[in-house]
Amino acid sequence: MKTDVLIVGAGVAGLYCALKLPKHKKIMIITKSDLESSDSMLAQGGICMLKDESDYDSYFEDTMKAGHYENDPKSVEIMIRTSPDIIEDLVSYGVRFARNLDGSLDFTREGAHSQKRILYHKDVTGKEITTHLLDKTLQKENVTFYEHTEMVDLICQDNTCYGAVLRMQDGSFEKVEADNVVLATGGIGGIYEHSTNFRSLTGDSLAIAIRHHIALEHANYIQIHPTTFYTDKEEDRSFLISESVRGEGALLYDKHMHRFTNELLPRDRLSEAIHKQMEKDGTPFVWEDLRPIGEVTLQRHFPNIVEHCEKMGYDVFSEPIPVVPAQHYFMGGIQVDHEGRTSMKQLYAAGETACNGVHGKNRLASNSLLESLVWARRAATLIALGAEIKKDPALIEETSFEPYQDMAQWKEENITLVKEEIKRENNGRTPAIAYRKMAEPLSKAV
Ligand SMILES: Cc1cc2nc3c(=O)[nH]c(=O)nc-3n(C[C@H](O)[C@H](O)[C@H](O)COP(=O)(O)OP(=O)(O)OC[C@H]3O[C@@H](n4cnc5c(N)ncnc54)[C@H](O)[C@@H]3O)c2cc1C
Repeated sequence: MKTDVLIVGAGVAGLYCALKLPKHKKIMIITKSDLESSDSMLAQGGICMLKDESDYDSYFEDTMKAGHYENDPKSVEIMIRTSPDIIEDLVSYGVRFARNLDGSLDFTREGAHSQKRILYHKDVTGKEITTHLLDKTLQKENVTFYEHTEMVDLICQDNTCYGAVLRMQDGSFEKVEADNVVLATGGIGGIYEHSTNFRSLTGDSLAIAIRHHIALEHANYIQIHPTTFYTDKEEDRSFLISESVRGEGALLYDKHMHRFTNELLPRDRLSEAIHKQMEKDGTPFVWEDLRPIGEVTLQRHFPNIVEHCEKMGYDVFSEPIPVVPAQHYFMGGIQVDHEGRTSMKQLYAAGETACNGVHGKNRLASNSLLESLVWARRAATLIALGAEIKKDPALIEETSFEPYQDMAQWKEENITLVKEEIKRENNGRTPAIAYRKMAEPLSKAV
């Protein structure tokens, strides 16, 4: 197989990159799952935008403060300055954001934002954006999609990328020769026992990067959400019980139905308090009581949460629900520069799998969709400029499928590599949140 650009991943980063590449480039987009199963489809809260110059300093400061000032200030500046243009582009694709009666954009606010600067579409902003990007991309004649097609490895030599090895839907292997490869494979939640991410997102690009000495950054910067609905079904993704529920008065209880913490602590400290309580009680969850919010507000503000709990057998109007902290977002990733270039030539990365320094140690709410779009577009712009491409057909020819014959083992090794990198960056300390047990072959998760 041959293409100009291979994009690995069909979330907002992969799709927007494809849309921003010129028509004459032949593009191949692969996704290991189906087109609906990306975290981009799950984003609830919204997407940030610099609404006017007067908010610049405050938006910048909120992002830096949330990131413990470990952010790359230049990256933060790029993201904020580009945001109005990105939003204009999304609106031109038909994305509908909530508006005021006079037609102007309506902005909302989330934790750690000192101003209202978040655009939203009900509580399904990610789906609204991703669906429109997908529709547009599907219309492009120069783009071919391959669902249930997995990047297994990169084909590279002397720090230059020439393509990738793919496992196709029927289980066969293919080599694809590409002038440029863009990694847009999302987060790592699939390796954790509890995560809000799709189970299939197992940090594959990171493992492959480690195998080929491609630089990573801050692999231990992992955001944990303190309250997700507890389920003992391993295959289930954790459902978010939004922070605003606690903001509206929901309380947390131990196994004796007694409060044990301040529910409005920052995410990391609250997760710690919940983990401690679970350990003390010997339980896999704590209780969250939504009744103090009141029936009217619950129905009006949180219909999805009410509905999900009901589906899981809990009536939030009459009883508490079980909640547990879960892995939510990956701030670290494959190191990229301000244009989305990795440390390997002809290889780019964008979205949650990349680390461009925007988020520092902790992501500010609703910055990730924006950051993914900004860097996807920057990578596309640079690829379009068409730097001189090195090709190596002989290397493609020589590449053997032998190392991938035992896929379950290959994937298990991948996950071990990612976990070891996280531990190494964490100075040998074990992570705050448990990994998924690997008793079943990992291929089951894909
Ligand atoms: C529940 C939830 C709520 C969120 N809410 C918000 C919010 O309100 N605002 C916000 O800004 N952010 C939010 N986020 C974060 C945001 O959704 C993600 O960071 C962002 O969508 C990541 O986009 P992406 O394109 O990098 O990855 P994804 O959208 O996850 O896409 C990854 C793609 O890569 C593919 N892939 C992975 N590995 C391989 C492989 N080996 N081979 C082939 N394909 C592969 C996947 O199949 C998928 O198509 C939320 C996340 C979750 C989970």
